Amino acid sequence: MFDKVLIANRGEIALRIQRACKELGIATVAVHSTADADAMHVRLADESVCIGPPPANESYLNVPRLLAACEITGADAVHPGYGFLSENARFAEILEQHHITFIGPTSDHIKIMGDKIQAKETAIKLGIPVVPGSDGEIKSEAEAARVAKEMGFPVLVKAASGGGGRGMKLAKTAADLKNAVATAKAEAKAAFGDDAVYLEKYLTKPRHIEIQVFGDGRGNAIHLNERDCSLQRRHQKVFEEAPSPALNAAARAKIGKTVAEAMQKLKYRGAGTVEFLYEDGEFYFIEMNTRLQVEHPVTEMITGIDLVIEQIRIASGAPLSVRQEDIEINGHAIECRINAENPRTFAPSPGRITYWHPPGGLGVRVDSGVYQGYRIPPNYDSLIGKLIVHGKTRTECMMRLRRALSEFVIDGIDTTIPLFSELLQEPDIANGQYDIHWLEKFLDAEQ
Ligand code: ADP
Repeated sequence: MFDKVLIANRGEIALRIQRACKELGIATVAVHSTADADAMHVRLADESVCIGPPPANESYLNVPRLLAACEITGADAVHPGYGFLSENARFAEILEQHHITFIGPTSDHIKIMGDKIQAKETAIKLGIPVVPGSDGEIKSEAEAARVAKEMGFPVLVKAASGGGGRGMKLAKTAADLKNAVATAKAEAKAAFGDDAVYLEKYLTKPRHIEIQVFGDGRGNAIHLNERDCSLQRRHQKVFEEAPSPALNAAARAKIGKTVAEAMQKLKYRGAGTVEFLYEDGEFYFIEMNTRLQVEHPVTEMITGIDLVIEQIRIASGAPLSVRQEDIEINGHAIECRINAENPRTFAPSPGRITYWHPPGGLGVRVDSGVYQGYRIPPNYDSLIGKLIVHGKTRTECMMRLRRALSEFVIDGIDTTIPLFSELLQEPDIANGQYDIHWLEKFLDAEQ
């Protein structure tokens, strides 16, 4: 096992990883920018190193500075969390060259899955069903027109290097296609330095259902069932639940088995999430994330397995701690992403938290890195915490969530808490009948 883990992240996820390290008796190193000197992840770590000014490329994304921090503190492993360098194959490679363990998959797997075109090709080879689309990159306007016509409109133009919902453009008809390709390419070039795009059939009423996997890197791999992340705004998840209200036991077992077998063939190591769209009883692969997800707690709540501890154990060379047949679904869990944003306009709302009262009680978990008096810096994403609620049934979980939201008080800044209270009054949400377009339609209708 490791002696000291450096956590190359900030906010709630840095704290989440520290908690796992502490339980395993591993010392922790926090890194931070000058904007985060007062952050909770810095206060609670055993050691901390300031790695630069607020812009992420001069701090949390700066590989030489992170390496120096490892060197100074003698850390023998790095946990990247999510975002920042978590899916950067070069970072994983450099750490290995310096004999520091990257707590994650091999750099080869990160590379393959980081390119969505290659990821789709790999999924097909592994027997995973994918969204119908172009055969790889679209190289010309004529090719785009031909493929789109064959598939039928609407089509989605997607960036090979895409992430966070960027570089994705909808073409409803042939007339929109040229513009959609050009804007997707320009957006992808600016955001990812790579303008390769491909086409996919645009699904009109799918759910986003993803499968959590774990592999030991030697051909053993298991799945921890699904999370339903269909409630989205601008292709970004807002609320997640497990199990999915849309799946029955047979469908769940079938897709889980397909994915676990694919991961066995791949000899995948560590935690990963295989994402699908699910429509009319069929699953269609869209991408794989080779890291811990924001929404991992809902899986922890229903399986009782600490996913971060499992990641650390596997990275240290231990076998999987559970067998497929030991994994049970216990009750229901829902997560609400609490963002420092105006709940109507979604404008970021950084600033000082003048009062902070998180909810409590049975089945209520708050993962957050903020505290009363903390000033949220304007430099990073607006997620300030996650409210995760567990209940014996979905109905109990919803009742508990309503109660927990009503207790949650955050003053001094705007948050998305009122939006969730409003959503829980909607019959479609109460009944679990929503697809990936539901929230956008709801918000449009409200304006
Ligand atoms: P990113 O990596 O940018 O998050 P994904 O490929 O994971 O991109 O897709 C993000 C979201 O975009 C999905 O959850 C879904 O809501 C939407 N989306 C992606 N592909 C399609 C598609 N073919 N049809 C309809 N919606 C899609």
